[in-house]
Amino acid sequence: MPHHAASIARGVGHSASGPVKAPAFDYERPVDVDGALRLLAEGGDDAKLIAGGQSLGPLLNLRLARPALLIDVRMLDEMREISASDNAVVLGAAVTHARIEDGNAPDPAGGLLRYVARGIAYRAVRNRGTIGGSLAHADPAADWVNLMALLDATLIVRSTAAERTIAAVDLVAGPLSTVLAADEMIVAVRIPKLSGSARVGWFKFNRKPGEFAEAICGIVDDPERDVRRLLVGVTESGSPHVADGAELLSAPPDARDGIITAAVAGAGFRCGTYKHQVRAVSLRRAMDALR
Ligand SMILES: Cc1cc2nc3c(=O)[nH]c(=O)nc-3n(C[C@H](O)[C@H](O)[C@H](O)COP(=O)(O)OP(=O)(O)OC[C@H]3O[C@@H](n4cnc5c(N)ncnc54)[C@H](O)[C@@H]3O)c2cc1C
Repeated sequence: MPHHAASIARGVGHSASGPVKAPAFDYERPVDVDGALRLLAEGGDDAKLIAGGQSLGPLLNLRLARPALLIDVRMLDEMREISASDNAVVLGAAVTHARIEDGNAPDPAGGLLRYVARGIAYRAVRNRGTIGGSLAHADPAADWVNLMALLDATLIVRSTAAERTIAAVDLVAGPLSTVLAADEMIVAVRIPKLSGSARVGWFKFNRKPGEFAEAICGIVDDPERDVRRLLVGVTESGSPHVADGAELLSAPPDARDGIITAAVAGAGFRCGTYKHQVRAVSLRRAMDALR
């Protein structure tokens, strides 16, 4: 299939601190996933996918990214699909935060996805930002990076050569860095369904509503599916810390503090520091929110 291609040359704006407009790049809008993957393989290090542009756009304008070619995948039908089976919900990578917020997707975690989507930035960002773009951008403070790890989601990833799956908890290699190869694209995210009797708790600590989180913690209790997990998010390594939550979930309230302190220390935060404290409070509040 032919690619719809347009070449865009941008003007260069300047502020006191340097350029504030993206450098010139070529722009292609392929008609299907295969076309996008071909362009990505051919473009090598000079090519970059763009979905909602909410993270990449600022990087281009600040010239922290200088791709020669942008491949727009936001409108690809296959990447916008939503499907559900008895065991899982599968969201195409180009499903926007707004569609999740609006309940266009069945919620595999009793409403938690909708709740989390509502807390991402503000509506204009949610209208364009996508779950796949957010995961690939790998900001340690991003909501989906942390929630998908807690829910044991799997990313379906393709290149021209192969398809493979990556556990969401293994995606992040470091802050703003993933284990994806340069020619790989996330096409969908598979999220296991919790049972109807599952309880979930989530707490995002940020200074203003809609801001990136300073800390994110969560907990899932689903005995029917044998799932008891806790999350300590926004770590120094960038990788969400997911651990067994059974001890915390079964502890009486007056015994929780010690377990929470140890769990946060296990995520790499030294006891007594502000960073440890803010996560300990967040995990306690996630426990309090459990329902
Ligand atoms: C003001 C503001 C506030 C924000 N606040 C929050 C917040 O509170 N919480 C939060 O989680 N996020 C927040 N964000 C980020 C927002 O959620 C972005 O939408 C998201 O991080 C990136 O998604 P995108 O679709 O725009 O990706 P893009 O910006 O288009 O792309 C981001 C990166 O992912 C790559 N990419 C895109 N799609 C794919 C794919 N399918 N496969 C592989 N690589 C891909 C691109 O090449 C690029 O490197 C905020 C953004 C802004 C501008």
